[in-house]
Amino acid sequence: MSNPYMSIDPQLFTHRAGAEVHIDLSAITQNYLYLQSKVAPAQCGGVVKADAYGLGMVEVAKALYKAGCRHFFVAHLDEGIALRSVLNAECTIYILHGFIPNQEALFIQNRLTPILNDIQQLKSWSQLCNHQRKNHPAAVQFDTGMSRFGIGQDELAQLSQISWDFFRPCLAMSHLACADTPDHPANQQQLTRFNTLKALIPCTTASLSASSGIFLGKDFHFDLVRPGIALYGGNPTPNAPNPMRAVVTLQGKILQTRSINTGDFIGYGATFVAPCPMKIATLSIGYADGFFRSLSPKLQARSPKYPEIPLPLLGRISMDSLCVDVTNLPENSIQSGDIIELIGKSCSINDVARTIDTISYEILTALGDRYHRIYTS
Ligand SMILES: *Cc1c(COP(=O)(O)O)cnc(C)c1O
Repeated sequence: MSNPYMSIDPQLFTHRAGAEVHIDLSAITQNYLYLQSKVAPAQCGGVVKADAYGLGMVEVAKALYKAGCRHFFVAHLDEGIALRSVLNAECTIYILHGFIPNQEALFIQNRLTPILNDIQQLKSWSQLCNHQRKNHPAAVQFDTGMSRFGIGQDELAQLSQISWDFFRPCLAMSHLACADTPDHPANQQQLTRFNTLKALIPCTTASLSASSGIFLGKDFHFDLVRPGIALYGGNPTPNAPNPMRAVVTLQGKILQTRSINTGDFIGYGATFVAPCPMKIATLSIGYADGFFRSLSPKLQARSPKYPEIPLPLLGRISMDSLCVDVTNLPENSIQSGDIIELIGKSCSINDVARTIDTISYEILTALGDRYHRIYTS
């Protein structure tokens, strides 16, 4: 661990694994506590949809619960049911996608809180509560500009038809489209609209911000914030240094090493032709592991033994393997079975994303389930 370039001790690598993702649960906890302290007295929730952005919903949610998190967000009903079965403790699980007709009983049985996204859902849920003379918790989302989810401008007039006798929404919410660009005019516009809209329903708690919104200032915090990517080490302030701790390390094994001559090519399509004699190593990670084809030849890997020497990816990435240039490593210094790091201290999820013009969310959620996932706490 003393090695400043490498995230983990390579001796920890599982004997059988082709490739591993190491997930630092204590870094997730510290990220959570940092965000919680930043927004206090507002509360900090945790977004664990899509298997906690590919890092494992069960492990991540348990760690967040331990850190004090009591508001969890997932996208699908199925995700919520799975989460409720492991988080039976007192906490709120919100379903971002709301419900479709005939799912209501499943929400109530599993104590899941739908986010009501259109007027029809609002009417049905209110009827259900009034019929049973019981308030079943539900949140109400307003569309403040993203045109994706939430009660729209065209539906506002129908709010007057809703009966609030037994139905009291537990949260008014909306979602920002441009929070990662602090001076985008949409931020202020959405904030102003949200302040107007949330007053239209009998509800005293509100939530507007995900990870990036937290960094737009107190006005954007309301009562509850909903970070996802920042918990997992993604940079919520893309134009400034990352305030979050890295969570993910990705490592593969060397399967073979070989020497090639001037004019030899590497990989499908023969896209790389050696300009001089070179040494290359084949690693056990490919695009089926979410290591996108477009990452080669742009990225560099590292060996834990020589972390200061970059090992550029060469040629096309195959489904299960990729090749790196190990010419600059000392003679006979590596062999099959050795560990090579692709994401870690010297190359973060944000660096990988930037390389191919995408966002860290896509890098994490693409990782797939062939890796051995190792959790440290
Ligand atoms: C996914 C999602 C979040 C979390 O977003 P991050 O940018 O990952 O923090 C919060 N709120 C809603 C409505 C979402 O869909």
